[in-house]
Amino acid sequence: ATPMSIMVATGKGAGMGVLFRNAEAIETLRKVDTLVVDKTGTLTEGRPRLVDVVPAGGFEAAEVVGLAASLEQGSEHPLAAAVVEGAKARGVALDPVSGFESHTGKGVSGEVRGRKVLLGNARLLEEAAIEPGPLGEKAGAMRREAKTVMFLAVDGRMAGLVAVADPIKETTPGAIAALHGEGLRVVMLTGDNRATAEAVAARLAIDEVVAEVLPEQKAEAVERFQAQGRVVAMAGDGINDAPALARADVGIAMGTGTDVAMESAGVTLVKGDLTGIVRARKLSRAAMRNIK
Ligand code: ADP
Ligand code: MG
Repeated sequence: ATPMSIMVATGKGAGMGVLFRNAEAIETLRKVDTLVVDKTGTLTEGRPRLVDVVPAGGFEAAEVVGLAASLEQGSEHPLAAAVVEGAKARGVALDPVSGFESHTGKGVSGEVRGRKVLLGNARLLEEAAIEPGPLGEKAGAMRREAKTVMFLAVDGRMAGLVAVADPIKETTPGAIAALHGEGLRVVMLTGDNRATAEAVAARLAIDEVVAEVLPEQKAEAVERFQAQGRVVAMAGDGINDAPALARADVGIAMGTGTDVAMESAGVTLVKGDLTGIVRARKLSRAAMRNIK
């Protein structure tokens, strides 16, 4: 494209909340045939709310919420905010935590009132050699409702679970439909549980799900599609997504997300609305037409 047509596309984009960082993004977008999207904060609002508390092993619901929220005070994950706010809303007091540890892509652990407490996903339980027991089935049912489940273990035994729901953004279904209309393959990429991810994907008619990926594996997933000869755009909002955004042929950051994501992407959608990708592709096609 000519410098002039790049300037025009950049200007028009800015006017509609699509910020291009470089000419390469404008030139490549029209060639994209696969869109890989992060789930939390990109397809969904990214503001999960605590919706279920299931106690077990003689614990009470308030204790489960209290222990979970106490641990999560030390985490910056959106799930942590949901649990802490849920405790506040229920009037449950929090305790101090010692020896806090964050296990990326798995959960959190620490000592509360002299007890060893663990909160996180099935992988975290497995690593601690704790069996979920009957809570495992409860978790399965909740995941099929698109909820994210966190297990709570105290001193090596199951104490309950908490579940959060993160609503799909109002603009997401229309955006996915429009991208499908352009013949793009849409793939969800998430650290969340497979069943939860598939429940969300089914509601959006997403073509493929890559779930339970650790943050450092997100870029590898993008590479795998590229190795198949696909031209890949990756859309995401989190620090976790930054390497995958940088790796993709075009990285697309949500303006509602983290600065790190925006710095790693060629395009930023100011309002965090995926419909911007359809508009961005139109600008890309128009800019490239000018050279022929
Ligand atoms: P993504 O941002 O793609 O949804 P993450 O890699 O951040 O995924 O997290 C993956 C999973 O790890 C979460 O779904 C959750 O089960 C678990 N997890 C991560 N952080 C926490 C936390 N602070 N508390 C509880 N569970 C967590
Ligand atoms: Mg996210």
